[in-house]
Amino acid sequence: MQLGLSGKTAVVTGASRGIGRAIARILCAEGARVMLSARDEADLMRAASACAAAGSSDMFAGDAAYYAGDLNDPKTAEGLIAYTERKLGAVDVLVVNTGGPPGGMAGELGEQSWRDAAELLFYPAVRLAQAVLPMMRARKWGRILFITSISVKEPVENLALSNALRAAVTGFAKTLAREVAADGVTVNTLGPGYTATERLKNLLEENARRLNVNPRELKERLLDQIPAARLAKPDEIAAVAAFLVSEPAAYLTGQALMVDGGYSHGLL
Ligand code: NAD
Repeated sequence: MQLGLSGKTAVVTGASRGIGRAIARILCAEGARVMLSARDEADLMRAASACAAAGSSDMFAGDAAYYAGDLNDPKTAEGLIAYTERKLGAVDVLVVNTGGPPGGMAGELGEQSWRDAAELLFYPAVRLAQAVLPMMRARKWGRILFITSISVKEPVENLALSNALRAAVTGFAKTLAREVAADGVTVNTLGPGYTATERLKNLLEENARRLNVNPRELKERLLDQIPAARLAKPDEIAAVAAFLVSEPAAYLTGQALMVDGGYSHGLL
């Protein structure tokens, strides 16, 4: 199957490592012109070079660029999209991904923590989508994908900020999907299950300290709950993301897809 991404302009945020980097790389390998964005410029530069190297033999091969910025700052979204349009052309594909929020219990976290989590997880999704939509709608083609979390279906203990704010992004995406479907723009969310990245390693270490157990033991307990009996590889999440933003996925919109090795229990 041809994904039809060759020559498309894609923006991927949180692309300096982990799941975002894997998504940027696969889009580049499919011949897209990819703008990678994240906070840390040195890591971002390395990720962009790897992305370019993964380019196919297509005429657009290796067309990757980067824009460093913190999405907590409202100006970053605007600057990123304006820079992408100047450098690579109008945005066809937007993949919104950032780091996860800190752990904490729903009944204990203070108001500032909730505000910070919204700045990290919710507002960048709204700002970036609103920045690319006018051009996508005018051109009658667009793909918007928000990376959320398995916590949308299976709230994670001690991760209240993620559990609540991912649900907000999912509600935003579902509503937006219906508003723009007639213009050829799809909007979906992808919830990764437990994936072998730096973020998961840090989370396991933090939880191990909190529960006073060995991180390895905690990982074993986690694997016992995953039917696939292993963590996801970032590339496995990225492959599904690439399909969701592809040409053949034109009729797939308003969906929240979990890529979790069978972890979530819900029927739907
Ligand atoms: P990661 O921490 O390895 O990478 C996060 C990326 O986002 C990095 O490039 C980082 O620079 C960037 N980033 C973080 N804060 C930012 C900000 N304020 N502005 C701009 N860029 C920012 O994370 P990951 O494991 O690749 O996960 C990606 C997303 O998927 C996260 O939101 C995470 O919570 C979610 N998720 C991950 C897992 C997992 O097991 N790894 C499971 C479910 C959901």
